[in-house]
Amino acid sequence: RRSFSALAGSRSAISAFSGTSVTGGTTKNFIGGEFTESKSTEYFDVLDPSTQTLLSRVPQTTTSEFEQAVDAASHAYKSWSRTSVLARQRFALELQYLLRQNADAIASSIVLEQGKTVADAHGDLLRGLQVVETAVGITSNLLGDHIAVSKDMDTHVRRLPLGVCASIAPFNFPAMIPLWTIPMAAVTGNTLILKPSERDPGAAMIIAELCQRAGLPAGVLNIVHGGIPTVNAICDHPEIKAVSFVGSDRAGKRIYDRATQNGKRVQANLGAKNHAIIMPDANRNLTLNSIAGAAFGAAGQRCMALSVALLVGEAKNWVPELIERAKKLKVNGGFEPGTDLGPLISPAAKDRVTGLIASAEEQGGKILLDGRNVQVPDYPKGNFVGPTILQADTSMKCYQEEIFGPVLVVLSVDTLDEALEIINNSRNGNGASCFTQSGATARKFETEVNAGQIGINVPIPVPLPMFSFSGNKGSFLGDCNFYGKGGINFYTQNKTVTSLWRAEDALGQRASVDMPTHD
Ligand code: NAD
Repeated sequence: RRSFSALAGSRSAISAFSGTSVTGGTTKNFIGGEFTESKSTEYFDVLDPSTQTLLSRVPQTTTSEFEQAVDAASHAYKSWSRTSVLARQRFALELQYLLRQNADAIASSIVLEQGKTVADAHGDLLRGLQVVETAVGITSNLLGDHIAVSKDMDTHVRRLPLGVCASIAPFNFPAMIPLWTIPMAAVTGNTLILKPSERDPGAAMIIAELCQRAGLPAGVLNIVHGGIPTVNAICDHPEIKAVSFVGSDRAGKRIYDRATQNGKRVQANLGAKNHAIIMPDANRNLTLNSIAGAAFGAAGQRCMALSVALLVGEAKNWVPELIERAKKLKVNGGFEPGTDLGPLISPAAKDRVTGLIASAEEQGGKILLDGRNVQVPDYPKGNFVGPTILQADTSMKCYQEEIFGPVLVVLSVDTLDEALEIINNSRNGNGASCFTQSGATARKFETEVNAGQIGINVPIPVPLPMFSFSGNKGSFLGDCNFYGKGGINFYTQNKTVTSLWRAEDALGQRASVDMPTHD
């Protein structure tokens, strides 16, 4: 049964925010501090992935609206970049409070538009909120360098903002990813144009209103919606100095190339295929629960989802138990109590995932657990796929591609070295985990594995925001990672000032043409 009362309550909580719609109206842009109706003639439908009900229509922002947003951000930059660091810190403090107060509305918007469970939607928000909480430390984190370099001469570094920046977000974390960039850009003194995913923009709209209530001046954050034309406008606009992108490999490579060719600084977090090595000495219960949770949670629509299990030696005998644990996970609408996996984002995503499952069998693999015909009686139109486990090898499409669904590929290998070789030959490098009780194995794994975020008995090793999100290989393009020190570096540039204040005139009458060395 659908929890209608919970849903009705959540719809009204979401509707209290100006930019959102849950009843088939339009999602607004947010430009210069105003929630504005676009004049566009082109819209994207946002559908509830459990029911296909139309929730909202998202505009393809027009060229002139985009220009207005850049003008607003450019104008606001003049004063915001000179606002005291304490005022910017205060904004982050207020925002974290308001996000907590309005967590239910944000989570409901995520469940409604994206489909994940209520608990997982709160996790989505919380991981973003933690970035806001760390951004509060900007007064310490922006402290610069200074040294008296020679007699009467000092050098100090000013860490300055870049100007107007832009952030392009994916559908799978509608709150967390906007919150990776909004606080970091704002506390460092930049202004921002955010383009949320056109598939689930509601959480970003609520966050924008909360930023305004937290005292962020008009124009510091602007939201423009749309698809590829908006992305291209961001990559091409000369006033935009930096672009943060999170999303698929395909979009990310194009955006990285186009924006860097236009002289912009870019950080791009891309796709993934995360492996876990399961050693036969691992704690069986912890390992099996961790693998099932990380492979199938959020219906596998996480960039850190665990999608390949490498079973070393005798660990291959654990597969039947893994299947049993996967079977116990409940597939249902995200608002329903007890749900473990909600629907995929769209019918097209479901077709793609089921096609990749079929390809495993066509290419000689085995479907050990098949979630394609999962029954969800109260949601007959939902884009559901149940937990699926495939036995495959590394040449198959189901291994090669990021499936982005609740599908785990299992491979049996004889040794740790063999497992490491598979991971190190794989294209992406977001995360990799090893389950073992041996310190020596863990240390060898940590040292030799080539991926950016490593878990030892931890299935989803996404670093908390005092660190940075450090995917590598094909999972990242750019030089500075998201949030943490990487985020501050990304959103700032150094100005190094050398000054001479000498009481007496000791330089004599003649100009020196030699390179000054100051020693
Ligand atoms: P996506 O690439 O389809 O969309 C991301 C953004 O790019 C959206 O705002 C979209 O409008 C825009 N876009 C889409 N196609 C484009 C194109 N051809 N040219 C220009 N812009 C385009 O990604 P998605 O489906 O929304 O998100 C899922 C993907 O994101 C997965 O691959 C996942 O691994 C990845 N992801 C990565 C991380 C990470 O931190 N590495 C985090 C979350 C998601």
